[in-house]
Amino acid sequence: MKIKEVRARRIFNSNGGDAIEVEVESDVRTAKASIGAGTSVGKYEVNAYPENINSIINLVNNVFSKELRNLQIEKFGDLKKVEDYVNGHDTSENMNKIGGNVLVALELAILKACSNEPLYKILAKKKIKKMPIPLGNCLGGGKHSGGPDFQEYLILAETKKFDVAAEINREVFNAVKGELKKRDRNFIGGRGMEGGWNCSLNNLDALNVVRKAADKVGREYKIDVRVGLDVAGGSLWNGRKYEYKNFSRGNPKKNLNSEEQLEFIRKTIRSNNLIYVEDPFHDNDFDSFKELNKEACYICGDDLIATNPIRLNEALKKISAVIVKPNQIGSLLKVKEVINIAKDNKIVPIISHRSGETEDNSIAHLAVGWECPIIKTGIVGGERIAKLNELLRISEEI
Ligand code: PEP
Ligand code: MG
Repeated sequence: MKIKEVRARRIFNSNGGDAIEVEVESDVRTAKASIGAGTSVGKYEVNAYPENINSIINLVNNVFSKELRNLQIEKFGDLKKVEDYVNGHDTSENMNKIGGNVLVALELAILKACSNEPLYKILAKKKIKKMPIPLGNCLGGGKHSGGPDFQEYLILAETKKFDVAAEINREVFNAVKGELKKRDRNFIGGRGMEGGWNCSLNNLDALNVVRKAADKVGREYKIDVRVGLDVAGGSLWNGRKYEYKNFSRGNPKKNLNSEEQLEFIRKTIRSNNLIYVEDPFHDNDFDSFKELNKEACYICGDDLIATNPIRLNEALKKISAVIVKPNQIGSLLKVKEVINIAKDNKIVPIISHRSGETEDNSIAHLAVGWECPIIKTGIVGGERIAKLNELLRISEEI
């Protein structure tokens, strides 16, 4: 296809902030895309948007649109032409002037405008037979919610069926509400940034509530329903220690050094049969990740890797799963590279939403088209179910 016109506009994100949507008109069709941005942003991520978002909107509408006109794009690899062109306008390492979100939105819109086929088919090399399984956030803390220090209490059902797993996540979410009503005197039904419940329980009591709900639903479905955590260790790390404010009953404030953190997380995994722990340590502690990776549990790097192929190469054998957030690196070509490196090294790539999402459902297509076994995209909330509902539609076609 040939690009005819490119437009950018300001839209809203789910956190009461701004996002940018890019629309591409080609000789095949017109398509638009946007991508989420984070709140607990890792040290090694590129900038999501320039400080003045009007500057990039004007640049896209007045300059990119003219200069990209007639550019020919036929396949995924042709995005190199787009990245070379856009990066020529911003030589900073962290994409200060353009913003990673803008380049990714542009690339997604261009890919969609290539064909009348759905995005996952444009990305797929062969006929897709498998759906990703949803890793659902059912209770929030940390920078997303307050309450517990852990940022996310997650659910993963041990089934290969996407629709069953998504339904189980929803049922656990509903069961957690019932438990919170009984156990948290301050609970009034509030929810955090990614839709997970807010609560005033400490870290371990909250974990107990989620576990209980997961076990109950698991028994009903006769499927193992396992619990995971996004510790978001970088948010707790003060440069010397991990600072907890809601550690446990009778001992809410606690500071742990690196060895104590390792011991605490190891014990938490074992005593709660956790299936998944994301960012248990801060963004530079590769050694502790390596040590924890001996546990029978997915040890996942999010801020540790920041969807950066160079950082993933440094983490081989130190993690068993990696979070893939396209805007962390601001390049779809590098996102694909990260997924390839992960698969070649038996690391599970997990396509992920951000806390500040839009209704765009492209990440559902990335997960299917690039055959990622897991997608992390919340359980409730319009911007979260936009992805889940698209996956339900896609699963009918597969
Ligand atoms: C995360 O840390 O995994 C996450 C989704 O949160 P945020 O988008 O705020 O980084
Ligand atoms: Mg994370």
